Amino acid sequence: MRAMVLDAAGGPLRAADLDAPEPGPGELLLEVAACGVCRTDLHILDGELAEPKLPLVQGHQIVARVLEGGERHAAGDRVGVPWLGWTCGECRFCRSGRENLCDRAVFTGYGRDGGFAQLAVADERFCFPIPEGYPDLQAAPLLCAGLIGFRTLRLAGDAERVGIYGFGAAAHIITQVARHEGRRVFAFTRGGDRAAQEFALEVGAEWAGDSHGPPPEELDAALIFAPVGALVPAALRAVAKGGSVVCGGIHMSDIPAFPYELLWGERTLRSVANLTRADGEEFLALAPRVPVRTEVESFALEQTNEALSRLRSGELRGAAVVVPDR
Ligand SMILES: [Zn+2]
Ligand SMILES: [Zn+2]
Repeated sequence: MRAMVLDAAGGPLRAADLDAPEPGPGELLLEVAACGVCRTDLHILDGELAEPKLPLVQGHQIVARVLEGGERHAAGDRVGVPWLGWTCGECRFCRSGRENLCDRAVFTGYGRDGGFAQLAVADERFCFPIPEGYPDLQAAPLLCAGLIGFRTLRLAGDAERVGIYGFGAAAHIITQVARHEGRRVFAFTRGGDRAAQEFALEVGAEWAGDSHGPPPEELDAALIFAPVGALVPAALRAVAKGGSVVCGGIHMSDIPAFPYELLWGERTLRSVANLTRADGEEFLALAPRVPVRTEVESFALEQTNEALSRLRSGELRGAAVVVPDR
């Protein structure tokens, strides 16, 4: 099969012909139809996440057709493969409904090969049916930007005025969900990024502005999707007493020191780690009811490096998706 391979931190990914992967017990053999590109892929590429499997096929938002089925998913079914690839089922986190924190979790496109390839294998217990009505390309960003964005919004509780920092794939999906739930959305982007601000307004934000400036009114919660630690004090400053700031990314630059008064007033600061299968089921049932519409830009498999660099430079509108047989 053709695949894009990470040999060492720093990259770039190398186009290669690999042997077809062989599914083990409980695993599916999958023909990849589309695979979304995520900021986490950049953190792995840059060596900011310790100890990936190497060499590695990245990609953890896989939409695929089952070639060899198992008990839950038959040959011909369309499935989605998310970041959470395997959990132990035994540790105290797994046994308390928090498999996202599993001590021994294995992640797709990090601890095991992912979807920047024509074929992939996945543990069928961690694969989701994809809702009908979503073409492959449009479904791919639901699997991480959507799922983990959704978990991030959930952890903000019932906040009505929600600020979103960093307006990319996750933000454009979660804005639609938040609006559907009757919340108000305020979008924060890099200074002067008119394109991102206009995009935010188009998908339902009522205000869009620069991330270091004040919002037009106090917020009840802030979700941070940009990997920029300096946004944490900025977001704390923007939320009202009792509000929360939720960091949705897997890696962030250092958070600068800030005065305690920004946290005082029962403000909460927390992160989101990974997803549970329950998150996936809940979000994939909700997405068509909103309905969430994803905006995607597609890239051929050999253009995966280009997709990653466009994500890095902030030039994308919505999500990048790699299509192996485009
Ligand atoms: Zn991701
Ligand atoms: Zn576990």
